[in-house]
Amino acid sequence: TLESTAGSATDPADRAAVPVAAIVPALRSAFDRGVTRSLRWRTEQLTALKRMLVERSAELEDALFLDLGKNPAESQLTEIGIVLAEIDHTLAHLHRWLRPRRVAVPLAIAPASASTLLEPLGVVLVIAPWNYPVQLLLAPVVGALAAGNAVLLKPSELAPAISALLAALVPEYLDPRAVAVVEGGVTETTELLAERFDHIFYTGNGTVGRIVMSAAAKHLTPVTLELGGKSPVYVDDTVDLAATARRIVWGKFLNAGQTCVAPDYLLATAGVSAALTPHLIEAIGELYDGDPRSSSSYGRIVNDHHFARLTGLLEGERVLAGGRSDERTRYVAPTLLGGVARDAPVMQQEIFGPILPMVQVSGLDEAIEVIRAGDKPLALYAFTNSKTAARRILTETSSGAVGFGIPAAHLSVSGLPFGGVGESGMGRYHGRRSVETFSHEKAVLRKPLTPDTMKLVYPPFTERKDGF
Ligand code: NAD
Repeated sequence: TLESTAGSATDPADRAAVPVAAIVPALRSAFDRGVTRSLRWRTEQLTALKRMLVERSAELEDALFLDLGKNPAESQLTEIGIVLAEIDHTLAHLHRWLRPRRVAVPLAIAPASASTLLEPLGVVLVIAPWNYPVQLLLAPVVGALAAGNAVLLKPSELAPAISALLAALVPEYLDPRAVAVVEGGVTETTELLAERFDHIFYTGNGTVGRIVMSAAAKHLTPVTLELGGKSPVYVDDTVDLAATARRIVWGKFLNAGQTCVAPDYLLATAGVSAALTPHLIEAIGELYDGDPRSSSSYGRIVNDHHFARLTGLLEGERVLAGGRSDERTRYVAPTLLGGVARDAPVMQQEIFGPILPMVQVSGLDEAIEVIRAGDKPLALYAFTNSKTAARRILTETSSGAVGFGIPAAHLSVSGLPFGGVGESGMGRYHGRRSVETFSHEKAVLRKPLTPDTMKLVYPPFTERKDGF
């Protein structure tokens, strides 16, 4: 058993330990009874979720500060605001997305009409990580509810304040018959993964992604895996380096670098690296009040394990800026590393922290070679005014997304699919893609019994039947 807010517990005081094994059947029963089917229920849930985010904003901001030292303005922009935008976009378009879509039929079976219909999958599981613990749990839930599913939410145990808060708030605002939260870590998630779901949506690292996919395979459950990786940023000499530096510094040091779509490392020629470095240092000063350590705009590392990992990555590297850290407060300064070797430890893993290694390349050819030598990244960023360079980057590399002139912001565009490729994941979400992810696209064919044109294809095949 475990602490959870499942089932009928609407009053927080009633929240008892409910066995995981009892939660999924309760959700399935609600789905089977049609609780989640109607467009009205779906829009009510989305509206209630919106109300929760607005009414309980201050509590969410406080919990995000406790877990990650996030500034409330950053929490609004990158967590609460993103989910609110997803809800608004979905409410505005859901009716249209759910309309059956007609498709053409081949002449041989005319007259007939063919169409597709999005139907809900059933009971879906959403497993979230700690780095954007509100956004990455609730943005998929928007799609799951909009598609008419019952949903089980599993927040990350590494953001305990948010996990506890959402476990209390979700049953207060959303229909407890069809939406439940299970808190916990490896033990509880392992227990959950033994159950049969109709879809599992997992965000986090690839090692656990593989565990999730193996567990899902036992029930033939489809999965969406939103994973990470090393997202490169390429800069050439055709752009304004001061403006470029501000964009890179913003995307890299947001949430103290603990962002799945943060630029992981920088590729540039020796000349561009040398010219860009003072601008990067200046931008760090500008964005973090001259002193990131005392700036309320700069976050902290999530736990001691990641703190030790990150400070370890600095060993033996040439620090151009930052490099300082404080174990007690888990502060790691925004750090620039120069002349980093392609085989350095910092280039062997996703950094997921405020360290930006600069790797020198001879030009675009070598930059493309470096990118192609690694796993396909979640995102790739380029700062160039050269049309040829932009075209080559688009066509000669593969990544979940490409951002020209701006890192990370593509995930705020609800009309763009968000997801990885290869090691950075499978499947996509946001906006219409979320609804599609949590739906089955059912094929429907209708043909009147008269005129019976099928006579042309029925056996016996004693005479030639052309036209089919
Ligand atoms: P995490 O440690 O919070 O783990 C994610 C989830 O997996 C948690 O809910 C956790 O309880 C669960 N989990 C952990 N071990 C498990 C196990 N053995 N079995 C079953 N479940 C288990 O977060 P994390 O993995 O450290 O997150 C960081 C990674 O996630 C980075 O690689 C980052 O790039 C990636 N990420 C990707 C996206 C995206 O949208 N693609 C977003 C954020 C983070």
